[in-house]
Amino acid sequence: MNPATAWAERDLAALREQDAAHVWHPLLNHSTLAKNPLSVMVTAQGCTVTDASGKTYIDAMAGLWCVNIGYGRKEVAEAAYRQLLELPYYPLTQINAPAARLAAKLADILPGGVTRVWFSNSGSEAVDTALKIARAWGRLNGGSRYKIIARYQGYHGATLGGASLTGQTHRRRQFEPLLPGVLHVQAPYFYRSGAKTEEELAERCAEELDAVIRYQGPETVAAFIAEPVIGGGGVIPPPGDYLKLMREVCSLHGVLMICDEVITGFGRTGEMFASDLYGVKPDIMTLAKGLSSAYLPIGATAVTEEIFQALNAEGESGFLQINTYGGHPASCAAALKNLEILIGEDLPANARKVGARLGAALNRLGDLPSVGDVRGVGLIWGVELVEEDGAPLNNDAVGRILRYAREDGVILSKNAGVANGPSNTLTISPPLVITEREADRVAEVLEGALRRHLAET
Ligand code: PLP
Repeated sequence: MNPATAWAERDLAALREQDAAHVWHPLLNHSTLAKNPLSVMVTAQGCTVTDASGKTYIDAMAGLWCVNIGYGRKEVAEAAYRQLLELPYYPLTQINAPAARLAAKLADILPGGVTRVWFSNSGSEAVDTALKIARAWGRLNGGSRYKIIARYQGYHGATLGGASLTGQTHRRRQFEPLLPGVLHVQAPYFYRSGAKTEEELAERCAEELDAVIRYQGPETVAAFIAEPVIGGGGVIPPPGDYLKLMREVCSLHGVLMICDEVITGFGRTGEMFASDLYGVKPDIMTLAKGLSSAYLPIGATAVTEEIFQALNAEGESGFLQINTYGGHPASCAAALKNLEILIGEDLPANARKVGARLGAALNRLGDLPSVGDVRGVGLIWGVELVEEDGAPLNNDAVGRILRYAREDGVILSKNAGVANGPSNTLTISPPLVITEREADRVAEVLEGALRRHLAET
């Protein structure tokens, strides 16, 4: 509790009234809010957020998998402030210094070969841009490559392009029909796959991708897109050599590989990029979240020089898209300072170190009857919850477990584990500055919440 930040009852009631009357919140039916009111978050520092009553929480989700450097970094605020005074805005139809410097910095740290950056404002826009670049490239390469292959259980964003690539039924159904020319293959989801080894599953998935490309006709397929570690689909790390095998299939058929590193980028897996961790060279990468640690909105789509040159060959039109706020000077200045901190403090190393300890603690929970699977890498973890017979744990019970953890001061989230099933995987993706003590506390509170649930059943 931090009484210094507590709001007066009257102010809080007025704010709640305004919110209830006018704000449309994501992913929920507003009629449930009277029974389950939302928190009013007012301040944050490090890994801790404080609500209007003064109660503090460890934010084990880094907001939405994004506040990689932690809250309260004055340097980032100051960098944005200085830039806003100097040049608040000018479109990327001309050059601005922070955008040029940020693109150069990214080219320096991205996996080899990915050197050219298109700026936008969110992960969804970065993904839509990747899709459009792949299609524009496909027009130049044989003329008819336009299909994009994504995966069930993957998540790629809120826009129609992102929703079309997303492979989770509940996030698509409301908006169908979605984009034509998008196909899905199985996710490499080892738990429930029936495979005996990770290698067996990896090979099975690569064979499926190969078969789908051949069936469609390679000359019609532009790209394959994958999150190196599926995040919003219940944290699914790639089994064995999965990503390398998928890369080989793409190369064999002249299909581009897009790595959606919106969550995994900028240290979350313990390497700066998951593509490096798993030893693959993507043709296109999508970035957001940890790029600015969410201090200001920014997204980026980075491509190889080869793709860039193809679209900019003599007589070609370039890439015919514009985003008003793409390369926004203040967002780029904040992102640059964010990268300085990430690299200067070697936060990927902290993600590796504290992540290993957190993973070990979570794996110990695997003995509890309602824990079906624990999986993750670095500081991205999923704990899949099950009923006694192994079926996904029902939504009400998962909701109660999250509430118990919150009462004890730890914010976790939940995401879908199986296609079309309940959101029965608890997800943990804290700021990369998390300390061992805080990580221990997260595991301890989760254990308490699970034990409370078990005592009630
Ligand atoms: N891609 C991935 C892998 C994501 O996890 C997300 C968001 O969670 C997005 C794209 C979309 O990003 P945004 O919400 O910034 O539009």
